[in-house]
Amino acid sequence: PQRHFAGTPGDAAHHAAGPLDPAKIRTRFPPEPNGYLHIGHAKSICLNFGLARDYGGICHLRFDDTNPEKEEQEYVDAIKEMVSWLGWDWNQGGTSHLFYASNYFGFMYRAAEHLISAGLAYVDEQTPEEMRANRGDFSTPGVNSPFRDLGVEHHLNRFREMRDGKHPDGAMVLRAKIDMASPNINLRDPALYRIRRATHHNTGDQWCIYPMYTFAHPIEDALERISHSICTLEFEDQRPFYDWLLGHLADGGLLERPLPHQYEFGRLNLSYVVTSKRKLRQLVDEGHVAGWDDPRMPTLVGMRRRGYTPESVRAMVEATGVTKSNAWLDYSVLDGCLRSDLEGKAARAMAVLDPVQLKLTNYADIFGSMEHREPCSAPAHPHLPELGQRSFSLGPALWIEREDFMEVPSKGYHRLYPGNKARLKAGYIIECTGCEKNEAGEITAVLATIVPDTKSGTPGADAVKVKGVITWVGAHEAIAAELRLYDRLFTEAQPDAGGRDFLEVINPSSLKVVTGYLEPSLAGAAADVKVQFERHGYFVADRVDHRSDKPVFNKITGLRDNWGA
Ligand code: ATP
Ligand code: MG
Ligand code: MG
Repeated sequence: PQRHFAGTPGDAAHHAAGPLDPAKIRTRFPPEPNGYLHIGHAKSICLNFGLARDYGGICHLRFDDTNPEKEEQEYVDAIKEMVSWLGWDWNQGGTSHLFYASNYFGFMYRAAEHLISAGLAYVDEQTPEEMRANRGDFSTPGVNSPFRDLGVEHHLNRFREMRDGKHPDGAMVLRAKIDMASPNINLRDPALYRIRRATHHNTGDQWCIYPMYTFAHPIEDALERISHSICTLEFEDQRPFYDWLLGHLADGGLLERPLPHQYEFGRLNLSYVVTSKRKLRQLVDEGHVAGWDDPRMPTLVGMRRRGYTPESVRAMVEATGVTKSNAWLDYSVLDGCLRSDLEGKAARAMAVLDPVQLKLTNYADIFGSMEHREPCSAPAHPHLPELGQRSFSLGPALWIEREDFMEVPSKGYHRLYPGNKARLKAGYIIECTGCEKNEAGEITAVLATIVPDTKSGTPGADAVKVKGVITWVGAHEAIAAELRLYDRLFTEAQPDAGGRDFLEVINPSSLKVVTGYLEPSLAGAAADVKVQFERHGYFVADRVDHRSDKPVFNKITGLRDNWGA
């Protein structure tokens, strides 16, 4: 495995961040590499990197990798990729600001010995059950451990034995000596170090004791000279310990002042989505989705594959603001951000998602032969002439949407029904004359005649007035494509609310796969290209499965909000 730090455990970089300008703010995004980033993380990323950018500061990308069992290089790589994808760079001012908490294990160990020597920490050999029972609760003060006051020498020796592998996993822990009667349970002698024989993705088997998050995280911030340690609200009760720890280490000369300060903000929750790594992992492991990057997943890899752009994700995060409450954001906000981003830049194309054939029965009369192809064109984008023109052609048989024909029209229906005229978009006006059916009575083809001299863009185009416009693709040049039509993954806006098992509200029809027909301008579309299929919405060529000889497009979102529907 790759090692990020070649030194010895005692040599962790004291000044991890290098020479620093104290006038600048310094933030960090500190993911644990135990899973893929999700939309909630995007909020933290944009907040931390955004503050640094806006105030001329620096933002660190720090892997909080102090928990060896669940952490893997695969996640480290995926996290880096997605931070970059979102548009942020940990290289700032010509310096890399990429850090690994595991590089500070040596320092953390020395800090722990310092606390023991100062009478501020002790090794507790109570069983986990005894510890839990003696912690008390909100109404009952805790009880001191019988090991608490055995003396500095004893505890220092025990802690060194822990480090040297003399005791089995779980036999004892190092605890801070604060106050077992504190009204803040986090101050009732929190655990600092535990014994765990596990191979670490960075430090290998160098250590068999690992620091607890609550001990490690403040130290990481202080070593990197972070000014604003921004975390989610549930850490508010940890702040007194954060300050206790760093204050004592600074008093002992192990850390320099000014010390970092912790600030809390509300988590981002998105409706119709779960954002707990454990629950996301369950969706993957139990096969409810195809993987971490399934386009229905709220992971950033999933959202990227679905077709959401970094711009749309950033805009959504900005729209939520920074608050002191855990707000629920409606998914439609994200879709709105996607539409505003793509509206102005995605090329247009015609695609037929639910095809039925349209036969132009007077084709040879109009064009002289059935083999003639009548060239048509339309702008790639209505407001971006620089994107050029799309070319396609008319033939005697076209694909149109099944819903664009009604044998008996409903009120206000302006598309094709016997006797009615409508325009083929960027083509001719046609008049519907009827349809063909099979024995089962299903419509197999719609019949129409071309109205002469009505081609779009020619002088006679407006001579005949029609109300309906039909999108179409010529059967002779249509590209058959797999279209993956996604819906919300859950049927409830707050899938895990009130302790409900979120698996019970999985939407059984969150994915519908159809074969549709695309206009020829999409031949050779590269993976990840985003287009607006006229009338239908925004689609993206799937970055994993799309091939030019076997196109696969994902629906990102429709042209209008229908989340409330
Ligand atoms: P999970 O609870 O899904 O396991 P986590 O918070 O444990 O996520 P970390 O890798 O520790 O995952 O998170 C990195 C950073 O992202 C933390 O600073 C955390 O506060 C922040 N973060 C995680 N989820 C959200 C969220 N929903 N909204 C805002 N920030 C979040
Ligand atoms: Mg965490
Ligand atoms: Mg968490």
